[in-house]
Amino acid sequence: MGAGPGAADLLTLRAATLLRAAQVVLHDDLVPQEILDICPASAQVINVGKRCGRRGRSQEQINALMVWHARETQVQTIVRLKSGDPAVFGRLGEELDALRRAGVEVEIVPGVTAASAAAAAAKITLTDRRAASSLVVVTAHNCRNESLSRTVEPARSTYALYMPGPDYSKTVQGLVESGHDPTTPCAVVSNAGRKNEEVRYLTLHELASAKGIIAPAVLIVGEVARERLSIRSEHLLAIPSVAKDPYKYDEFQVGQCGAD
Ligand code: SAH
Repeated sequence: MGAGPGAADLLTLRAATLLRAAQVVLHDDLVPQEILDICPASAQVINVGKRCGRRGRSQEQINALMVWHARETQVQTIVRLKSGDPAVFGRLGEELDALRRAGVEVEIVPGVTAASAAAAAAKITLTDRRAASSLVVVTAHNCRNESLSRTVEPARSTYALYMPGPDYSKTVQGLVESGHDPTTPCAVVSNAGRKNEEVRYLTLHELASAKGIIAPAVLIVGEVARERLSIRSEHLLAIPSVAKDPYKYDEFQVGQCGAD
């Protein structure tokens, strides 16, 4: 779940509704107390952020906590609360992998990402059509220690194309001309977040001749869609052996840490 950039009233209604029903909440440092206060008093609220406590929480520990609560306790609603949008520099991919491997059902609640909030604060537009036709969201820190010049290369980037249709073959042609391999995986998402949402996982080559893609849609292009592409027709997930109790070998300070 995305908590937004930090002001409680920039939390989505969907997020607030689910938080009110949460039994366990695992949150990052940047989530403000005002938002944590929405959780029921009975909820177990755990700060898994880096700044809380002496020992940093490894990603493996956080994954283990989510899986353990989902599979070994009677808890129905576990919220993993992150600042901004969880899909933007939020390690969502690694957490999804762990939950998927454990066969845990997941819903993702988007949030207002920092770039949107920053543009609003600065009173500028990110894609003024007179000046810019793309928005690059990039981190100056990455786990491979790559330089910025390498980080922004197409092969290491995710492209989110707004208004990608109706001529998808032309869009694919443009992407291939700009250096994308036709086998690059992509996801085309119509009516995202709405009841009539539709998601297709394809390669760019397949997209060029795809029929019946409904507008409005956003096309997400890049390696991040590869796993979904490879499991698109897979219905059964392997359920690994019972998760270990993460509380047995860790010092999570349940309910003791403030927000930031
Ligand atoms: N998932 C988050 C980003 C997490 S990375 C999102 O979608 O916004 C953490 C970084 O986000 C911070 O180092 C800072 O660069 C940025 N950030 C988060 N909240 C912010 C805020 N309220 N104002 C400015 N930058 C913010």
